[in-house]
Amino acid sequence: MDKKFAVPRGTSDILPDRVLLWERLETAARRVLKSYGCREIRTPMYEETALFKRSLGQTSDIVNKQLLALAAAKEEGYALRPEGTAAVVRSYLENSFDKNELLSKFFYIGPMFRGERPQKGRLRQFHQIGVEAIGIDGASAFLDAEILALAMHLLEEFGVQGPKLKINSLGSREDKEHISAWLRAELGKYKSDLCENCRSRFEGNVFRVLDCKNEFCKKVVRAVMGGQKGLPLSESSLDYFKSVQNTLENLKINFEVSPYLVRGLDYYTHTVFEITAQGLGSQDAVGAGGRYDRLVHDLGGDGKTKFGGIGFALGIERIFLAAGDTAAPVQSLDVFVVATQAQDAFGLAQQLRRAGISADMGFSAASFKSQMNRANKLNARFALILGEEELKNKSAAVKNMQTSVQEIVALENIIEYLRKALS
Ligand code: ATP
Ligand code: MG
Repeated sequence: MDKKFAVPRGTSDILPDRVLLWERLETAARRVLKSYGCREIRTPMYEETALFKRSLGQTSDIVNKQLLALAAAKEEGYALRPEGTAAVVRSYLENSFDKNELLSKFFYIGPMFRGERPQKGRLRQFHQIGVEAIGIDGASAFLDAEILALAMHLLEEFGVQGPKLKINSLGSREDKEHISAWLRAELGKYKSDLCENCRSRFEGNVFRVLDCKNEFCKKVVRAVMGGQKGLPLSESSLDYFKSVQNTLENLKINFEVSPYLVRGLDYYTHTVFEITAQGLGSQDAVGAGGRYDRLVHDLGGDGKTKFGGIGFALGIERIFLAAGDTAAPVQSLDVFVVATQAQDAFGLAQQLRRAGISADMGFSAASFKSQMNRANKLNARFALILGEEELKNKSAAVKNMQTSVQEIVALENIIEYLRKALS
């Protein structure tokens, strides 16, 4: 026998029952996102590889190890999108939002692709709900707090258990350079003992050593950072970070300042954050994000050094894990048409659908009983029975599947009858 095909490793089918849960989540997400003035944007599933390299950074794990290229696309220099920010900023510039709006707030919902080692909560194709607020009007502690509030609002709406917000500040671009030099000098004293990963990140992105999970690296980091409350930020960056915290406090949003939180991507500046939740095991982040004050400039917005942005992405699969099992909604059908011959049911089913009444029917010469079973399985509210007698009288027997009450209705009145009965 030929081999059976299976869903690719690290991906999954979302089957019809689950899709109803996804649909409900997406509807709730769109409602909340729109209430913050965000507008939906849909960018392609793949982009130029160079876009990801320039925005996320050559040394980020995503670019280094996790970009998924499809053979044909790879030759032309494309890769499947591992995240959403780079493409949104690309589109923002390409479509001149920078020239026409002081601040643009976008959201997206869709699949992302990373060449990960699959495990619980870690897939190769997963889905994110993301937000990006970009513009010249964008460097505001209020905006940072608003975007953080939005992320928490969404998680609350989805019923995620015990969400915990951790924030930190990486400072401005200039701060980051000073801090990198400082970290290289301090951590450098222990360089040969750091884990392999950290040694290789040392030149490219020394910040990553701060959130390394290796026990020895953690000890070194604690020794180096021990005397400090956080990263050595400039005064203005520190003021900015304090006003973000004050604004969050005013909004009564609980958070924790986590001095070792750095996030792995080059484009982050100032505020960075991560949200963890209960019930996720070792992959406990449901979402993360941060401010990116030079990304617009770096992606070709010439002279646009004042264009700031902030965004986040929430992982939908992890949201479901963290929200626990909720009863899946059921898809019901208004009418199932039962007939001895498909040709008797066919035109009527189509007529009902055109009238906005959902309808289905059997296509083979199945027994009356098995057709009624199928009507039950499909959660039909009514069975419309076209027996010989009924057909002769240009009528149908309409059976209410819940009450089992049956009535004979003339076919010419059937739509009117059903509309009333269904409302
Ligand atoms: P992690 O630390 O778990 O690797 P990350 O820092 O790579 O996460 P981000 O790039 O910030 O994650 O993506 C935001 C969110 O997207 C994560 O918090 C998570 O919920 C989700 N996510 C990221 N990678 C995956 C994946 N491979 N499978 C499922 N969800 C993911
Ligand atoms: Mg990751």
